[in-house]
Amino acid sequence: MMNLERKVIEAIDQQQDEILHYASKLIQIPSLTGEEGLAQQFIRDTLTDLGCEVDVWEPDLDELRQHAEFQQVPDNYTGRPNVVGILRGTGAGKSMILNGHIDVVPVEPMEKWDHGGPWSGVIQDEMLYGRGASDMKAGLTCFIQALRTLRELEVRLRGDVIVESVVDEERGGNGTLAAVLRGYHADGAIIAEPTNMTITTDNAGALWVRVTVPGKAAHGAYKEYGVNAIEKAMYLYRHLMEYEKERQTRLSTPRFAHYQYPFPINIGIFKSGDWPSSVPDIAIMEGRVGFSPTESHQVFRKEFEAEVTRAAQEDPWLAEHPPSVNWFGLFMDSARIDPNHPLVTTAQEVMAQVLGHPAELKGKAGGTDMRLLVNSGTPCLQIGPGLSSEAHTVNESVPIRNVVDVTKIIALMLIRTCGVH
Ligand SMILES: [Zn+2]
Repeated sequence: MMNLERKVIEAIDQQQDEILHYASKLIQIPSLTGEEGLAQQFIRDTLTDLGCEVDVWEPDLDELRQHAEFQQVPDNYTGRPNVVGILRGTGAGKSMILNGHIDVVPVEPMEKWDHGGPWSGVIQDEMLYGRGASDMKAGLTCFIQALRTLRELEVRLRGDVIVESVVDEERGGNGTLAAVLRGYHADGAIIAEPTNMTITTDNAGALWVRVTVPGKAAHGAYKEYGVNAIEKAMYLYRHLMEYEKERQTRLSTPRFAHYQYPFPINIGIFKSGDWPSSVPDIAIMEGRVGFSPTESHQVFRKEFEAEVTRAAQEDPWLAEHPPSVNWFGLFMDSARIDPNHPLVTTAQEVMAQVLGHPAELKGKAGGTDMRLLVNSGTPCLQIGPGLSSEAHTVNESVPIRNVVDVTKIIALMLIRTCGVH
């Protein structure tokens, strides 16, 4: 290890209290999706103090709407800007984006929280508690504290560092999309979503789908004159569950082996019928379906549609009255980074050094902003403190050890990737 890296690690160990204090303060500023304004002011002030050029802007819904990955959201961005801090390098080094979302999900049921409630930011038994602890204010803290340490040690990086604190990730990623459309690209990017001290290299995609199943209305007393749409939809549902099982066996890779269903088909809404004494003439199933980074969403959509058609053809009524498949609402593409990419190999070296053991490469089933960076030409991986299973839970927490370790990992990644003047 270079002398400089050793100094950085020692400094971060000494600054553990300040690092955790900053994470606590961030948790204590509630920043529910839609109400990110105050927390973003806090981040803006920090980035300014760190000597960054700071870019603060409210994403423009009309501009975002032009993009295939725009997410329909209930409100606009007035008073809830994105904040980007740019630390200019001395030149001739690789640039790096550090991306994190400031928004957090609702805290209900509030009364079930211990540890002083969701906005306490208290530390007990080596854990930091509060909404956003894992997802992902600890991650944002690691970015900021890594930069602070480098600044205090007067380390001048060659490449630019771009810290992105984005809004509205929890509703699908419009904040990061806005940053991409504003022109932020780099040679590499790290998102500090919780990864349980592994490296996320693969991210599954997700789509919302609506399957509309026709039946035939009749009086419930004379049901043989009708065709019950609920029964027909249940038949299709069972078929889809078989198809789901087959897809997991066919598509899972070692990166996704820790999931039973890395690419699930989940029907979340089932609607049918309006009168107990009527045979319903239509049933609608709406669900979220996951797809693998090894298949394109276009190919997957066709495959899913063909599967519904195949099942329908085996049923006399549905063969004559085919169900329809519509893709609506959510679309999150999949993404991956080549495991031989220097960003990944450097991350593995740095993590082995900081943690004392090799870090695994893993896939993530839930959508993240990784796809928006990768698909706009910025190779991206995820390393962050905490467990993704902690995200969105009551008593959300993050191990304080993780926060300190990831701060070191980020600092060393910047030294090795951006280069030192
Ligand atoms: Zn998150």
